Amino acid sequence: MVLPKYDVVITTDRSMMSNYHGKEFLGFVTTGPLFITVGPFRKLGEWIHEYIAMPKMKVDKYGRPYQAPYGMRKIEAALLDAGINAAIIDPDYVHKYIPNAKMLMLSHHDYFGLNPPSSTWSAIVGKEPLNAYSFRRFMMRIRPYIMDAKSRNGLKVVVGGPAAWQWLYLPELMDFFGVDTVFDGEGERLVVDLVKRMLNNESVPRYVYVGVNDVPSIDEIPTIKYPAVNGFIEIGRGCPRGCAFCPVTIRPLRCTRSRRSRRN
Ligand code: SF4
Repeated sequence: MVLPKYDVVITTDRSMMSNYHGKEFLGFVTTGPLFITVGPFRKLGEWIHEYIAMPKMKVDKYGRPYQAPYGMRKIEAALLDAGINAAIIDPDYVHKYIPNAKMLMLSHHDYFGLNPPSSTWSAIVGKEPLNAYSFRRFMMRIRPYIMDAKSRNGLKVVVGGPAAWQWLYLPELMDFFGVDTVFDGEGERLVVDLVKRMLNNESVPRYVYVGVNDVPSIDEIPTIKYPAVNGFIEIGRGCPRGCAFCPVTIRPLRCTRSRRSRRN
């Protein structure tokens, strides 16, 4: 079968690319430590944990997922709206697309299991959480394809999403996995410019942080083009409570009501 070619391939590991049996909160089970980590039952333990917490996503014949994480759909939509040839690809198929891609973009809620509750569980039982294990296993599987594409075609690799900050604590892994840039923050306003520069082989920073003045306004947030996991929709960003310790409060509150009132 001839696969379509995408300049920008967006993906993540199975702990993110799943519909969790249609029960979103089962996804939290991926933050738990692996049931069994040694001995002959390790494979069985992994299989049971993965079957419960992160079943495979339905895909089309090209490996494009039927549903994908909402934030990734937003980035995909921003790139498509800008005329960039981009697509989200399921982790089981992404190695087929990397050789012809110019950019690979990764996203995650918890790349290395450093967020709560993953880190809480891990500290208590001393075992790696499933989400971190799944991401590590995924990256080790695609690393040869990434390195080959980097040396042959100059593939660029960007990591982002809510857990982008975690790469700053493990900078040696950026080199090991061929990561060029960490993109940290809401992406809709700045990501298109970053991607265009990288596609044109212009130099870009190793770390991009989206400051409060660069978050997208409600009119700059595109409508997703394809379904999100379990039919998620976004009705707002930010939080009106204003807890002093919370970084969410430094960004403006945006919601669908404000879009409507602006138009009226
Ligand atoms: S901690 Fe942050 S997100 Fe939670 S209620 Fe307070 S301001 Fe809102």
